[in-house]
Amino acid sequence: MIIVIAALIAVGVIAFILTVRAKDLPVPEPVSPFQHLDERKAAIYENLRDLQFEYRVGKLSDQDYQQTKKDLQRELAGVMAEVDRLKVQLSPNGSVPPPVAAPEPQPIDPLACPHCGAKFAQPLKFCGECGKPLKVRA
Ligand SMILES: [Zn+2]
Repeated sequence: MIIVIAALIAVGVIAFILTVRAKDLPVPEPVSPFQHLDERKAAIYENLRDLQFEYRVGKLSDQDYQQTKKDLQRELAGVMAEVDRLKVQLSPNGSVPPPVAAPEPQPIDPLACPHCGAKFAQPLKFCGECGKPLKVRA
Protein backbone atom coordinates (compact mmCIF):
# COMPACT_ATOMS: atom_id res chain seq x y z
CA MET A 1 0.00 0.00 0.00
CA ILE A 2 2.77 2.39 0.96
CA ILE A 3 4.57 1.62 -2.26
CA VAL A 4 1.46 2.43 -4.27
CA ILE A 5 1.03 5.76 -2.48
CA ALA A 6 4.69 6.58 -2.93
CA ALA A 7 4.43 5.70 -6.61
CA LEU A 8 1.32 7.87 -6.98
CA ILE A 9 3.08 10.77 -5.28
CA ALA A 10 6.13 10.30 -7.51
CA VAL A 11 3.95 10.24 -10.62
CA GLY A 12 2.08 13.27 -9.35
CA VAL A 13 5.30 15.19 -8.73
CA ILE A 14 6.69 14.29 -12.15
CA ALA A 15 3.42 15.23 -13.83
CA PHE A 16 3.41 18.52 -11.93
CA ILE A 17 6.97 19.32 -12.94
CA LEU A 18 6.26 18.44 -16.56
CA THR A 19 3.09 20.54 -16.77
CA VAL A 20 4.75 23.50 -15.08
CA ARG A 21 7.76 23.22 -17.38
CA ALA A 22 5.56 22.99 -20.46
CA LYS A 23 3.56 25.99 -19.32
CA ASP A 24 6.65 28.05 -18.56
CA LEU A 25 8.60 27.27 -21.70
CA PRO A 26 6.58 29.29 -24.24
CA VAL A 27 6.82 32.35 -22.00
CA PRO A 28 10.53 33.06 -21.62
CA GLU A 29 11.60 35.72 -19.18
CA PRO A 30 11.32 39.00 -21.09
CA VAL A 31 14.84 40.36 -21.11
CA SER A 32 15.30 43.80 -22.54
CA PRO A 33 17.84 43.75 -25.36
CA PHE A 34 19.04 47.05 -23.95
CA GLN A 35 19.81 45.61 -20.55
CA HIS A 36 23.34 44.45 -21.24
CA LEU A 37 24.01 47.73 -23.06
CA ASP A 38 22.66 49.70 -20.13
CA GLU A 39 24.90 47.72 -17.83
CA ARG A 40 27.91 48.41 -20.03
CA LYS A 41 27.02 52.08 -20.17
CA ALA A 42 26.73 52.21 -16.38
CA ALA A 43 30.09 50.45 -16.04
CA ILE A 44 31.74 52.96 -18.36
CA TYR A 45 30.28 55.89 -16.44
CA GLU A 46 31.56 54.34 -13.24
CA ASN A 47 35.01 53.93 -14.77
CA LEU A 48 34.96 57.56 -15.84
CA ARG A 49 34.05 58.62 -12.31
CA ASP A 50 36.82 56.46 -10.85
CA LEU A 51 39.24 57.84 -13.40
CA GLN A 52 38.34 61.42 -12.54
CA PHE A 53 38.76 60.66 -8.86
CA GLU A 54 42.15 59.03 -9.32
CA TYR A 55 43.25 61.94 -11.47
CA ARG A 56 42.13 64.43 -8.83
CA VAL A 57 44.00 62.67 -6.03
CA GLY A 58 47.10 62.61 -8.21
CA LYS A 59 47.28 58.88 -8.92
CA LEU A 60 47.27 59.43 -12.67
CA SER A 61 49.43 61.52 -14.92
CA ASP A 62 47.69 64.02 -17.13
CA GLN A 63 48.60 61.97 -20.18
CA ASP A 64 47.25 58.73 -18.71
CA TYR A 65 44.07 60.48 -17.67
CA GLN A 66 43.44 61.99 -21.09
CA GLN A 67 44.23 58.72 -22.87
CA THR A 68 42.03 56.57 -20.66
CA LYS A 69 39.24 59.13 -20.77
CA LYS A 70 39.40 59.11 -24.56
CA ASP A 71 39.27 55.30 -24.63
CA LEU A 72 36.29 55.22 -22.30
CA GLN A 73 34.44 57.89 -24.23
CA ARG A 74 35.05 55.99 -27.46
CA GLU A 75 33.68 52.84 -25.84
CA LEU A 76 30.68 54.79 -24.62
CA ALA A 77 30.05 56.11 -28.11
CA GLY A 78 30.14 52.53 -29.37
CA VAL A 79 27.54 51.46 -26.82
CA MET A 80 25.34 54.43 -27.74
CA ALA A 81 25.57 53.52 -31.41
CA GLU A 82 24.60 49.95 -30.56
CA VAL A 83 21.56 51.21 -28.62
CA ASP A 84 20.53 53.33 -31.60
CA ARG A 85 20.91 50.37 -33.94
CA LEU A 86 18.80 48.17 -31.67
CA LYS A 87 16.12 50.84 -31.45
CA VAL A 88 15.91 50.90 -35.24
CA GLN A 89 15.69 47.13 -35.37
CA LEU A 90 12.95 47.08 -32.73
CA SER A 91 10.90 49.90 -34.18
CA PRO A 92 7.53 48.82 -35.66
CA ASN A 93 8.79 49.51 -39.15
CA GLY A 94 12.08 47.73 -38.59
CA SER A 95 12.93 47.44 -42.26
CA VAL A 96 12.33 51.12 -42.92
CA PRO A 97 15.43 53.23 -42.33
CA PRO A 98 15.06 55.72 -39.49
CA PRO A 99 13.87 59.20 -40.45
CA VAL A 100 17.12 60.61 -39.09
CA ALA A 101 19.05 58.79 -41.80
CA ALA A 102 17.20 60.66 -44.54
CA PRO A 103 17.25 64.34 -43.71
CA GLU A 104 15.51 66.80 -45.97
CA PRO A 105 18.09 68.20 -48.36
CA GLN A 106 18.26 71.83 -47.36
CA PRO A 107 18.84 74.13 -50.32
CA ILE A 108 21.45 76.73 -49.53
CA ASP A 109 19.58 79.97 -49.16
CA PRO A 110 21.83 82.94 -49.91
CA LEU A 111 19.47 85.13 -47.92
CA ALA A 112 19.52 82.94 -44.82
CA CYS A 113 22.01 83.22 -41.99
CA PRO A 114 24.08 80.01 -41.75
CA HIS A 115 24.62 80.67 -38.05
CA CYS A 116 21.13 81.23 -36.69
CA GLY A 117 18.90 80.44 -39.66
CA ALA A 118 17.28 83.86 -39.86
CA LYS A 119 16.07 84.81 -43.32
CA PHE A 120 16.16 88.20 -44.94
CA ALA A 121 14.50 89.77 -47.92
CA GLN A 122 17.80 91.00 -49.35
CA PRO A 123 21.48 89.96 -49.21
CA LEU A 124 23.20 91.42 -46.14
CA LYS A 125 26.82 91.58 -45.05
CA PHE A 126 25.91 90.85 -41.47
CA CYS A 127 23.06 88.93 -39.96
CA GLY A 128 20.42 91.21 -38.47
CA GLU A 129 19.56 88.57 -35.87
CA CYS A 130 22.86 87.32 -34.51
CA GLY A 131 25.25 89.89 -35.99
CA LYS A 132 27.59 87.33 -37.58
CA PRO A 133 28.92 87.96 -41.07
CA LEU A 134 26.94 86.36 -43.86
CA LYS A 135 29.34 84.75 -46.24
CA VAL A 136 28.38 84.82 -49.88
CA ARG A 137 28.97 81.36 -51.28
CA ALA A 138 30.71 81.11 -54.62
ZN1 LIG B 1 22.36 84.97 -37.78
